[in-house]
Amino acid sequence: ATFAEIDLGDALNQNIRRCRYVRPTPVQRHAIPISLAGRDLMACAQTGSGKTAAFCFPIISGIMRGPPAARPQRGGGMGMRTACPSALILSPTRELSMQIHDEARKFSYQTGVRVVVAYGGAPITGQLRDLERGVDILVATPGRLVDLLERARVSLQSIRYLALDEADRMLDMGFEPQVRRIVEQMDMPPPGVRQTMLFSATFPKEIQRMASDFLENYIFLAV
Ligand code: AMP
Repeated sequence: ATFAEIDLGDALNQNIRRCRYVRPTPVQRHAIPISLAGRDLMACAQTGSGKTAAFCFPIISGIMRGPPAARPQRGGGMGMRTACPSALILSPTRELSMQIHDEARKFSYQTGVRVVVAYGGAPITGQLRDLERGVDILVATPGRLVDLLERARVSLQSIRYLALDEADRMLDMGFEPQVRRIVEQMDMPPPGVRQTMLFSATFPKEIQRMASDFLENYIFLAV
């Protein structure tokens, strides 16, 4: 099969052609239909497997076709607003977050889907300004996102898509408490409204536990 045969929406299909992706990689071939069908997914996939597109395509397509995005809320005081993204992509490092952001922006060109990145080790001011302009997909590292949640500059109440990238690396780096805090904030709405994708290169006990805690009736994919 080719991407031309997978209907992800005209604008996204056109961006995929622009990127010169013709055939899905194995992880994309399996993960994209599972996600488009609305199922949760745990995927064992290495760097270089094409996993970024595997979670970005269903998210962008779903946002393009879904209900309109939530409007920012008043919050944080002093006329500041709380951003309400529809999708969250968590990644362990600044470098990986930047890379995902770059790709997600290419894929969402002229789709109306807005992508913002927030990572630690950099001034928060520019990131706050980006969030104020509006965000559909937030790419973030766990520590910086906890900071933004504490400042009430981001709300996770409207999250419909959650992707955890390189989950094993997030655990290795000691981010499990932050990741759990973040995901627990999303557990208020009725189950089934949020779709979760967990990507990890390895599948140790800790990741299995995360999968059973965060995912619902999920499909396991190893490529
Ligand atoms: P990733 O594993 O997401 O870091 O992707 C690895 C590299 O493969 C990136 O440079 C992508 O742009 C590229 N890539 C991903 N999917 C495809 C595809 N279906 N066809 C060609 N290149 C791809």
